[in-house]
Amino acid sequence: MNVKTRQGKIKRLKEHSKKSVVIVGGGINGIGLFRELALQGVDVLLVEQGDYCGAASSAPSRMIHGGLRYMENGEFALVRESLHERNLLLKNARHYVFPLPTTIPVFSWMDGVFANALKFFGLNEKPAKRGALIIKLGLSFYDFFTRGKTTMPKHRFHSKKETFRKWSFLNKDAVCSATYYDAWISFPERLGMELVSDAEQASDSAIALNYVRLERSDEDSLILKDSVTGEEFSIEPELVVNATGAWIDDTNQSISKRTDFIGGTKGSHLIIRNDDLYRATGDGMVYYENAEGRVCILFPYMGNVLVGSTDLPVVSANGVHCTPEEETYILESLKYIFPSIHIEREEILYRFSGVRPLPSSTSATTGQISRSHSCQVLPANEARSYPIFSLIGGKWTTFRAFGQQIADQLLTELKQPRHCSTEQVEIGGGKDFPETLFEKKQWLNAISEQCQCTDSRAEILLARYGTRATELAEFLVSKQNRPLLSHPDYSTGEVRFLIEKEQVECLNDLLLRRTSLAISGDLNLDVIREINDLLAMQKGWNQKRKELELGNSLSYLEQYHGLDYKTLSSRLSTQQKQQPVAASELTESLAI
Ligand SMILES: Cc1cc2nc3c(=O)[nH]c(=O)nc-3n(C[C@H](O)[C@H](O)[C@H](O)COP(=O)(O)OP(=O)(O)OC[C@H]3O[C@@H](n4cnc5c(N)ncnc54)[C@H](O)[C@@H]3O)c2cc1C
Repeated sequence: MNVKTRQGKIKRLKEHSKKSVVIVGGGINGIGLFRELALQGVDVLLVEQGDYCGAASSAPSRMIHGGLRYMENGEFALVRESLHERNLLLKNARHYVFPLPTTIPVFSWMDGVFANALKFFGLNEKPAKRGALIIKLGLSFYDFFTRGKTTMPKHRFHSKKETFRKWSFLNKDAVCSATYYDAWISFPERLGMELVSDAEQASDSAIALNYVRLERSDEDSLILKDSVTGEEFSIEPELVVNATGAWIDDTNQSISKRTDFIGGTKGSHLIIRNDDLYRATGDGMVYYENAEGRVCILFPYMGNVLVGSTDLPVVSANGVHCTPEEETYILESLKYIFPSIHIEREEILYRFSGVRPLPSSTSATTGQISRSHSCQVLPANEARSYPIFSLIGGKWTTFRAFGQQIADQLLTELKQPRHCSTEQVEIGGGKDFPETLFEKKQWLNAISEQCQCTDSRAEILLARYGTRATELAEFLVSKQNRPLLSHPDYSTGEVRFLIEKEQVECLNDLLLRRTSLAISGDLNLDVIREINDLLAMQKGWNQKRKELELGNSLSYLEQYHGLDYKTLSSRLSTQQKQQPVAASELTESLAI
């Protein structure tokens, strides 16, 4: 049996149940640590109850950033670390992380000087308006932290006239604006998956399994349940890492004792298709304050606009979704910053929510809670032989630094050396990514020749998979392949590649995380059905199992992303939008 298949991995675990490290939770923090340990040759198992990056890690604002706002809370060390990691990701994940010009509309010259000084010293907990002087101070620190380490331009202020020339939809009360540079990530879920694959490829003793849940403990063993087969099996760990994000306290309770480490806050975002709003972004991020002084963001994302977010305390992380009240809150914030733009509810294509696994806190407002990361250790005791390391907080931006710090702690416990640093290790399709236009052209030529496709098709694949598109191209030439009838931009072979190579177990893995179909607003019933048919064929599901999967997926999309049956069926597929085209013609026009 192939040891890299799901069954092969589980069989191996049943035969050799001792593991040096078990990481519970396959969000970005668990995954980052998994890769870190795998590259040091540690015998490590990662289990995720759902799909990788299926919870908070698929709900970020998609910023890879220093966190300008965190300076108000005095978190300078976090900002410095985040900026360092941002710059590393711009190099190591060139295929998914890009510079992002970010503009702050400014509504006064001096506002917030006193209030923010009080806030800095912990004497004021309310959000305060920020005038030009405060913004200048923050941006100067930002530039100072990255001096000589980035090719991105320094911040720049624009006069009122310049501001309205470029951002003509802005609230007319703006007195000026400032632009600085941060970064954004196009496919965080795919980058998470690539980190898992890189780690498994780097070491035979690194095993990752999605759809495996930590249920409970039994003396010195952890009892895990494979939700694909319903089977339970046990593992004897030397060290346990609890990377279950907003569920950290529940997980500790299930294997040890109740803790009170987490005080999660929920954040929701909307994807909106509105031409004026798209133009209003000025091709970058607008980082603005709403009427109450809370920071919100919007930027162009896959042809639409991503807007967010809310920041609300929650008691439980289960079942979170964007409520109508949050939707109204976000739309109101847009009305404040762009008063002349009218947005219809129907223009909201997609909604997503997640819970930030922040530390429990007594702060009066959620904005005051530290965004830094930390680790709490429950030492081994008479009841269990292993200590539990709980990973609290952590941002997408800083996953590598957090993973590195925890890995060092674990390596000390295991008395194992560190073999390499991950600072310069390129990720997935970011490896050997073409840097210059000339290199890119050469790369596109090679791929289009290999697959007999157009340069523009090769360019889509480069944007989607980075240089892993070469592996995809090799796969495609050996398989039957044609464009999807419902969405010719994807092909049947491409979907099969994702199923085979990227641990796909459910339809939603494909719709929400291996592809960008859902978040880009491209989902409709035809696409969902066609992809489900391919998945069913690949997995050998019967009709009943196939229908069950479709039903599960549709109810999930409705409950968590506001995509009900009526919306999905009213959206036209690409096939319907164009003149009907025979499948054979499509095959000719688009080889892969
Ligand atoms: C609204 C919002 C906006 C954000 N914006 C940004 C941003 O722009 N930039 C940025 O850098 N960061 C951002 N973040 C922060 C970042 O996304 C999160 O801090 C990070 O994703 C947390 O990762 P995690 O792995 O700790 O948690 P999660 O991603 O939640 O992962 C925890 C995992 O544990 C699993 N699990 C739970 N119980 C069990 C069990 N018993 N067995 C097995 N598995 C289990 C869950 O299924 C889950 O997948 C944002 C977060 C949110 C919510």
